[in-house]
Amino acid sequence: MVELIIEDAVIVTMAAGAGPADAMLIRDGRIAAVGHAETVRAAAPRAEVVRLGGATVIPGLIDAHCHVADIGYLAAAADCGQPSAPDIAAIQARLKQAAERTPDGTWVTGAGYAEYKLREGRHPTRTELDEAVPNRPAVLYHTSLHVCVLNTAALQEAGFADGQPDPPGGAFGRDSEGRLDGVVYEAPMFALFEARIRHDIAQAGAAGAASAAGATIIETAGERLAGFGLTSACDADMRRDTFAAFAEADAAGRLRQRIYGLVVHDQVDWLLGAGLQGRHSGQLATEAVKIWADGGMSSRTAAIGGTYPVPPYGSGILYFERDELTEMVRDFDAHGFQVCIHAQGDRAIEIVLDAYAAVLSSGLSAGLSSGLPSGVAAGAGNSRRHRIEHGGAMYPPLAARAAALGIVVASQPGFLSSLGDGFLAAFPETGDELYSFASWQRAGITVAGSSDAPVITADPRIGIRDAILRRTGDGRVLGPAERLAARDALALYTTQAAYACHRENEIGSLEPDKLADFVVLDQNPLETDAALISDIGVLATVLGGTPVYQSGSIFPGR
Ligand SMILES: [Zn+2]
Repeated sequence: MVELIIEDAVIVTMAAGAGPADAMLIRDGRIAAVGHAETVRAAAPRAEVVRLGGATVIPGLIDAHCHVADIGYLAAAADCGQPSAPDIAAIQARLKQAAERTPDGTWVTGAGYAEYKLREGRHPTRTELDEAVPNRPAVLYHTSLHVCVLNTAALQEAGFADGQPDPPGGAFGRDSEGRLDGVVYEAPMFALFEARIRHDIAQAGAAGAASAAGATIIETAGERLAGFGLTSACDADMRRDTFAAFAEADAAGRLRQRIYGLVVHDQVDWLLGAGLQGRHSGQLATEAVKIWADGGMSSRTAAIGGTYPVPPYGSGILYFERDELTEMVRDFDAHGFQVCIHAQGDRAIEIVLDAYAAVLSSGLSAGLSSGLPSGVAAGAGNSRRHRIEHGGAMYPPLAARAAALGIVVASQPGFLSSLGDGFLAAFPETGDELYSFASWQRAGITVAGSSDAPVITADPRIGIRDAILRRTGDGRVLGPAERLAARDALALYTTQAAYACHRENEIGSLEPDKLADFVVLDQNPLETDAALISDIGVLATVLGGTPVYQSGSIFPGR
């Protein structure tokens, strides 16, 4: 039996109705007691005691939607984000540098730009990428990961040629003569990104050891996330190859988070065939499916009711018709999966709600098979907790429908500071109604906090701050009425995110019998000036009683 008491701490338990606590007993990786030091010590007189000098302890933070493998993969890419690369010349310089350290056979890769933040206010072109990287393939990923730019060599290797029509679910940018300008939108971009990850994992791994190279990518991401206080994460596009990498890291005891996989819909046949649906360990699970209903907000490809007043104009991209989507949801629901559908624009959200409504109203079996009593209140019929991912333009009537169906929403407050000005340009009339967290909460929706990293930083301190302040990069407040109180903002990343992945009995709050996942901070986020929450220091991140990150030596010898 391993017992440890932490005391002299401000413990923010996030448990409903819990009183103040300054000590916590951890026994064999779980919380055994939380409360006043005398009581906690009396429960375990021989436990080792670590005094935290007044530091704050909060539950381990949960990112309900990010792309863990992509975070690790893009950690090696040239940083082409703004403001650090303010114009196309700066991006060219970054790509030129990256070319020097990129091994032969691997594409030169940059990431993180937003065209509307560049001095030129547009995407770079293939010609500009050719100037930086003339004789080998180069790719520059947009921060949304819904768009990229390819140089000529990359266009050739990808098999994209002038005169080729737009592929299904996507589009090519073209110059005034109709030739490809190098910009690739949506479906072909996703296919390309996946192909590049797979290729680079295989390339980095010696023959037969590709999953080891993948596991290294997973570890790189895990280190980063642990440094931000994250102890759990939903990987929002788990596939066969990334699952192998997670499983390898897990078997080696090198996962620093509990990973809840959202398995991409076209990989589900493989998953079921391999008998891999479910929980694999305390740190790896594949119980949910991911579907994309539309494009992204910052790439202006989310499917909306009107048309965008900014490039690429149009009304966005919808991937499935209502009936097709409904059948997919019905099938995954029948197999016991939680369904998580990316839906950003109001037109997409409506179709997703139609699909959920059709399946939930016809399939009372879902509630019955999981033991819910019959005749439960509206909303409780969604026993699998089917989710909407993002929900950016979920305006009040749509939010009311989502609440009535009991749909859980995994959303991204941190978009507001990094992408909010772009949202306002794309949604000049409804900007204040985007990501309306306070309204959603009042409607009764469980909203889980997340980052969508690497689209933006995975740092949940940014998300918590933005949920409270809603300040854009230019300092405007997007939807002042939608600001959350600090405790509600923290709940997004703790109790509510735990609920969103069916883990509220194990994580999300500091209570006896739950797993000892917690973070030691140098300030209490509930009492810090909101603008300074992003500066709070993470002193240690602890997973199941074991430190997975420390900035100092609070837990010596661990
Ligand atoms: Zn995502």
